Amino acid sequence: METNMLIGAGFEAGTEAEESILNPRTGEVILGLPEASPDQIDRAVAAARRAFKTWSRTTPGERSALLLAIADAVESKLEDLAALEALNCGKPINEVRNEEIPAVADCFRFFAGAIRTMQAPVGGTYLEGHTSMIRRDPIGVVASIAPWNYPIMMMAWKLAPALAGGNTVVLKPSEQTPLTALAFARILADILPEGVVNVVTGQGGSVGNTLINHDSVDMVSITGDIATGKKVLVAASKTVKRTHLELGGKAPVIVYNDADLSAVVEGLKAFGFYNAGQDCTAACRIYAEDGIHDKLVAELSAAAASIVYNNADDTQNEIPPLISPRQRDRVASFVERASEQKHIEIVTGGAAADGTGFYYKPTVVAGALQGDEIVQREVFGPVVSVTRFSSDDPVVDWANDSPYGLASSVWTGNIGRAMDVCAALQYGCTWVNTHFMLTNEMPHGGLKQSGYGKDMSMFALEDYMAVRHIMIAH
Ligand code: NAD
Repeated sequence: METNMLIGAGFEAGTEAEESILNPRTGEVILGLPEASPDQIDRAVAAARRAFKTWSRTTPGERSALLLAIADAVESKLEDLAALEALNCGKPINEVRNEEIPAVADCFRFFAGAIRTMQAPVGGTYLEGHTSMIRRDPIGVVASIAPWNYPIMMMAWKLAPALAGGNTVVLKPSEQTPLTALAFARILADILPEGVVNVVTGQGGSVGNTLINHDSVDMVSITGDIATGKKVLVAASKTVKRTHLELGGKAPVIVYNDADLSAVVEGLKAFGFYNAGQDCTAACRIYAEDGIHDKLVAELSAAAASIVYNNADDTQNEIPPLISPRQRDRVASFVERASEQKHIEIVTGGAAADGTGFYYKPTVVAGALQGDEIVQREVFGPVVSVTRFSSDDPVVDWANDSPYGLASSVWTGNIGRAMDVCAALQYGCTWVNTHFMLTNEMPHGGLKQSGYGKDMSMFALEDYMAVRHIMIAH
């Protein structure tokens, strides 16, 4: 197992305090991993700065070829990477093998093509005697900071557009899930020139904080909590760094009476509980209209109770445990506080699972009201709330009544109503009669306090490049 960090051309161990890396399925310590020292972080940023000089001058075609090579290498190491990600996150192996690692390879392939096909206004004479043209140039050294819920996929979402655009990167994975980032660093070091990607490990408050405050970092890209994003903004203001923020969500799901109930139940079972709800787009805040509400609660609860999660044969499991005991206890405390409210019923779940590991039972909380904490705050666990509404209630206002603005969905047989609701919802994505589906061609990112960076799609490439006007006097 790779435990060294990538700094420039070399692999070296961190020299500071050790973090225990846990197996969430068993609670056992996989290994202790020392974090990077300030000197090691400085050297990683300096290596990225040196590499920027030549990497930023490569052609799109040259960078594209290397991104395609990375995609091929990811596929050739699919089994190893999947096993490592499953070990470190407790994810069901089939989920990583069949969905997440293939999505990583596809992400690099998409940006390999995207960088060769960028669009801009036509060059021309807009002022008499002058020719104008647009350049899109890289921004510089990007500090990329990733969360623990999809470690290698978030790494791909951050690296692929940044590298395609000609930037160099110092990446810090979550202190809880660094293992695939370190394995991926080996792959990258074999393909990319020295210093183009560097990987340093450690805590947010130490290594992350040093990176976001570093004078020689030009841009910070972070996926994490709103509170962390705000710290990035404060740090960025000192040298006016660019920022790319992906900061969580609390996705509303509006289900009208005319929705296809079995599709709703099947969809919410999959998209409310995928990755044990540790997903910023999780379908976790359901609003069900009077006529469908009772059946929905009953059928969704039965479906949630049927989810397989702590089977010794991992190929049978549908969802993982929570990432840590702390996260499991946090989820439990949300459900406990909700259950103290008289109007709330915990229809299924509502407790940690027996046995080892950080499992929490898939939970359906019915009777929740708009002002309840369980409706307002991000739980980031296998817990969905259901709130009843009638045709007199301002359900779209309720859905918008959130500091988050990442993802949402509307379920109805009436396409006109679906389009009206899509227009009125203030979320980066609204799905109609589905939820959660992503594709590398389309953007993922939020509004409001969910942040404003886009991952995936041409829009991500634009985020990682500066638009420049070049004007020539004739
Ligand atoms: P977190 O904010 O605690 O940590 C995210 C990353 O930021 C980690 O690498 C962490 O070490 C680092 N970090 C923490 N404090 C820092 C600091 N002061 N300076 C610099 N870096 C710091 O979040 P998490 O608990 O790892 O992840 C869960 C959160 O991420 C949830 O809120 C979730 O919704 C959000 N998330 C958002 C998206 C999205 O696309 N919008 C995707 C996945 C997760």
